[in-house]
Amino acid sequence: MVWIPKNCYCFYRLIIISALCVLNSRKKEQQLRKHVCLPTCVWFASAEVLQIQSRMSCPAPNTPTRTLIRNVRPICSMYNENTSENTVTRNCVTDSPNAGICFIVPAHYFEHKIKEGSAEQRDRAIYTLKISQLIRGQRMALSGVQTLGLSAHAKVRREVYDMQNSQTQTELPGKSVRQEGSKDTGDQDADNVFNNSGTVYKFYNEVFKRNSLNNRGMTLVSSVHFARDYDNAYWNGRQMVYGDGDDIDFKKHKLAGLLDVTGHEMTHGVTNFTSNLDYVGESGGLNESMSDCFGVMIAQWAANQTVDAASWLIGEGLMMEGEALRSMKDPGKAYPGDDQIKNYKDYRDDMDVHTSSGIGNYAFYLACKNVGGHSWEKIGKVWYITNTARLKHGSGFQDAANHTFDVAGSLFGEGGTEQKAVSDAWKKTGLEAKKPDLLANVGPRVVRR
Ligand SMILES: [Zn+2]
Repeated sequence: MVWIPKNCYCFYRLIIISALCVLNSRKKEQQLRKHVCLPTCVWFASAEVLQIQSRMSCPAPNTPTRTLIRNVRPICSMYNENTSENTVTRNCVTDSPNAGICFIVPAHYFEHKIKEGSAEQRDRAIYTLKISQLIRGQRMALSGVQTLGLSAHAKVRREVYDMQNSQTQTELPGKSVRQEGSKDTGDQDADNVFNNSGTVYKFYNEVFKRNSLNNRGMTLVSSVHFARDYDNAYWNGRQMVYGDGDDIDFKKHKLAGLLDVTGHEMTHGVTNFTSNLDYVGESGGLNESMSDCFGVMIAQWAANQTVDAASWLIGEGLMMEGEALRSMKDPGKAYPGDDQIKNYKDYRDDMDVHTSSGIGNYAFYLACKNVGGHSWEKIGKVWYITNTARLKHGSGFQDAANHTFDVAGSLFGEGGTEQKAVSDAWKKTGLEAKKPDLLANVGPRVVRR
């Protein structure tokens, strides 16, 4: 894909460079843009996708920078003062520290434990961070592997595997312990994950007529007992993976046992197959928020809870200290050291995606409370359509505000209670929802090859 900016004052240069890029003439292209910081031609090694990015500013010498441009994948670049070239080093999305691995527990939680915790907690936190780092590195080595388990069947298909405390990504999914139609294993983590992933499938299927994560009956693959007493769970782009917990920070058997945790991880899969929100910057915060919104919604749906009866907590009872992992009704107040924000004025680009996700979480909570009843019946639908049909990989919080506002008007009436509930909710997060320009990214700006 070649991206051509609207107000290009260097159009012919772009045309020449794009032609050279297509011919893979990297050397000539580099000569052409020598001493020029824009535009830059980038090869995405994993996807063989080509992009041209304009307006890349010259950063400080020899420092990696991340340029975030609306609707364009973020690019990591390195300015080399010896050659005066701004060399693109990597794709922030696939090569960033988060590298498409969507953990439920943010890194800063463990960093806080290293600083403030007991010796035991510090050792455990260092261990968890080391394993997480390993996962990211191993995941990068696995990039390009095809998505597993595609199926044309319309029924739920689940497979649970046991990693037997191995932390090696190449051993995923592990030893097969349960498939569709087989009996309980007697292993509570394996059986809980099997049952919970079935509930999540049922929720998406009954409420939104969705057939699995990819809407094509993808097999739901989960692995339990990942690493030794590992304090996290994650979606790796292909499957869900659960640690056991260590009973020091995270209670044992809770990560694999909580329905909202499984709902959160599986929603990362739905997002991957739909909006594919980049896991960085604002879109990363939105991606995390979508997982929390649907995680909490699924738990409410399974318990047939109203918005007033629900706790609005993610990972309730998961931790040894603190009420939960996140609070949607009061972001930043779930546990000691919780740094989630709930107002856009506090947002910074370098924030952890689990910190900025509080903005979207709080908007969803307020909108649901404004409408009342069941979260999945009205506001849940608005969020689902927004995530699966409106948002793009680089969308930000303002885009989410605008599209949820527009979708609420389309579904339930312009100027109606639901649309007002949505705009009032976003207003409390510091954002003014307005009608989106639905044709903003259509037309000659994007040329697909
Ligand atoms: Zn997540």
